[in-house]
Amino acid sequence: MKKDNAGQKADRSILLFSYFVSALFLSMAVYMGVFIETRGEEVTNHPYNARLASLADRVVRGSILGNDGTVLARTVTDEEGNETREYPFGSLFAHVVGYAAPGKTGLESYANFYLLSSHDSLSHRIMKELSDEKQTGDNVVTTLDVGLQQIASDALGDRRGAVIAMEPDTGKILAMVSKPSFDPNRAEDDWQELTGGDSTEARLLNRATQGVYPPGSTFKIITALEYMREHPGEYSSCQFDCSGIYLYQSYQIQCFKRTAHGNEDFAEAFANSCNGAFAKLGPELDLEAYGNLCVQLLFNRELPIAIPYSKSIFRMSPQAESWEILQTVIGQGGTLITPMHNLMIISAIANGGILMNPYFIDHVENAGGQTIKKFMPSVYGELMVANEAHALTELLTEVVLEGTGSAVRTEAYQAAGKTGSAEFDKAKETHAWFVGFAPVENPKIAVCVIVEEGGSGGSTAAPIARKLFDAYLLP
Ligand SMILES: [Zn+2]
Repeated sequence: MKKDNAGQKADRSILLFSYFVSALFLSMAVYMGVFIETRGEEVTNHPYNARLASLADRVVRGSILGNDGTVLARTVTDEEGNETREYPFGSLFAHVVGYAAPGKTGLESYANFYLLSSHDSLSHRIMKELSDEKQTGDNVVTTLDVGLQQIASDALGDRRGAVIAMEPDTGKILAMVSKPSFDPNRAEDDWQELTGGDSTEARLLNRATQGVYPPGSTFKIITALEYMREHPGEYSSCQFDCSGIYLYQSYQIQCFKRTAHGNEDFAEAFANSCNGAFAKLGPELDLEAYGNLCVQLLFNRELPIAIPYSKSIFRMSPQAESWEILQTVIGQGGTLITPMHNLMIISAIANGGILMNPYFIDHVENAGGQTIKKFMPSVYGELMVANEAHALTELLTEVVLEGTGSAVRTEAYQAAGKTGSAEFDKAKETHAWFVGFAPVENPKIAVCVIVEEGGSGGSTAAPIARKLFDAYLLP
């Protein structure tokens, strides 16, 4: 009997214990469910939010992945529980992925909330909670194409500048390179060096979104659009005879290397990137409408992009003097643009006038690979009507077929684009630009390249774009 009693007692203890565990399980489940449901990302996704900092005490930061699942950033925990943020590609994704310390930049900042949220399976989460382990954060799968990023970086080489590629019909950012770069694995150790010293280096600056440059001849796209708007049906028949130097009042405008382009119509002047022909159009333009067009194309405005950027600047007033007009219409003067903004304009042209919101995150998934949140392409707005986009596409195609964009000319696909060689300091080489897309009939990729002090856009920037087009479009 005694034995039986003891047995019953033991059974009851086990029963009680299992009730207790079940109750604990249930309350945990309710707690965690409520915790997730009520914790809105709108409230907590602020990078300086104290609640996010406390989340980091409970969740191991998730990984940032390329569009094929390649790890771009991950947290490794050693036996003592010390966490190290690792960037397997070193400097390759430094600006776009960013770093998590000191402070946070790039996607490490933008995606902070997702990385510190855990949607691991309930059983995993409860087990970890019971054993006092940190939860496993969700992984952020980006739109970035690792192969294309590597090609963009290799093509830019050791030169300062930026290369960005985007799908014009979705807004997916495929590649974003800024040079000179830095190793985010060493950002904390190298902080003094990275933030001090030579300002022309500015390694932490994401030149793709934060670098502002004179647009040079890429701005002729906008001047051409304004002229076409003011002279529908007539613009294509205007003629210009270029001697390499254009004289207006007491001013002279030179073509690149004083090249005499001879007799040109509108499309040929655009393809040759003739400064004289475009400077001649300047004083004829309705400057108020021209200024409004620039604002419509996002100058002096916020850009729809999730990581830090600089605003582009267009400052010519309708009362501007001749010299400023002659300079501004060929992309010199006081106008400044970021490579990201220039990419948005060319992407809108590729997409029939519609700018898609550029984005970096395809989806967020839990530790088990289940999708938690999916991001879809979204329209920012119409930057120009479809007919204007098509007319510009014809001009941009001629640049490749007959003009300064011959570096992207190939039988394999038809590209369209515009070169630029932007003066910023008389004593230095020009900045080399290229903006373009391919294939013309159904654009899959739009690219913007700038090489600081790279000389001519046609010979320095366009060949870099060619490498991206080839890699992305050819088998
Ligand atoms: Zn010319």
